[in-house]
Amino acid sequence: MKREKRTPKYLGSVRFYRHLIVGAVLGSLFLSTGLAVFFGVENHQLKGAATVSVEREDALAPVEMVLPDGVAAEESEIAYQNAHSTLYAGERDFSFAPDREKTVYLTFDDGPTQRTGEILDILDQYGVKATFFVIYRDDEASKELYREIVARGHTIGVHSASHDYGKIYQSVDSYLADFEQIYQQIYEVTGVRPDLFRFPGGSVNAYNMDLYQEIIAEMLRRGFVYYDWNVGSGDTMRGATATAIADRVVAGMPAKRGIVLLHDSANKDQTVQALPQIIKRLQAQGYSFAPLDRMVRPCTFGYQSE
Ligand SMILES: [Zn+2]
Repeated sequence: MKREKRTPKYLGSVRFYRHLIVGAVLGSLFLSTGLAVFFGVENHQLKGAATVSVEREDALAPVEMVLPDGVAAEESEIAYQNAHSTLYAGERDFSFAPDREKTVYLTFDDGPTQRTGEILDILDQYGVKATFFVIYRDDEASKELYREIVARGHTIGVHSASHDYGKIYQSVDSYLADFEQIYQQIYEVTGVRPDLFRFPGGSVNAYNMDLYQEIIAEMLRRGFVYYDWNVGSGDTMRGATATAIADRVVAGMPAKRGIVLLHDSANKDQTVQALPQIIKRLQAQGYSFAPLDRMVRPCTFGYQSE
């Protein structure tokens, strides 16, 4: 009697499903790592919405990425990709220069305010150029400040029109609509088409966890470069003194380059007072100061899953 040898059925077996799950996990891991390498970004571990992690300078080498021509013109199945047709960075080249040694990039979020003039004067006094990530204002004094930022040689970047987290992080489209409003305002008032931006709350925060990857992908597709930070100043902490802010910045400065988060806010007198200390102390240590431009390799947060 011939006995048929029975081979256990693989498809549908426990082993099959186990392989399927392992395959899916590995696949998504490779995909996310691949994307990070592709965009030449470093991955920072985010520990809470507004905290800053230690920069890993050696994480990834800069890579070149040039988006193909005509990306903007193609009709997409995704509605938001067809909308906001003027919202493309003039240049869509993602090649970054090698990091400069001992360089400080001061960045000021949330202006313009009645503090902006003082900040600009201090920067002038020390011959320092910085970066301002601005919000939407339509009064004449604010428009003059947008122009002053540009005229005095600083970089002007987009922060947000409304700075209303609940509103802008509702969907990719609401993010883009908000971005377009401030982008157009900067362009109309200064003649500069900003191509750098900073997310309100940083690129990964409690308001955009479900959405941040999609927003980032869309903003990169449109050619914009975003910067988180690797040096916190603590200037939003209640009761922070000017010396405490300066101490924190100086102590947190990496050997190569520091992208420093500061705020241009009407009630942040202490940030303005800290500024000369920050500049003098870092210059004494041999640091130089520069404004951001799209050749500076971005410093970006990554989301740390539970
Ligand atoms: Zn902000």
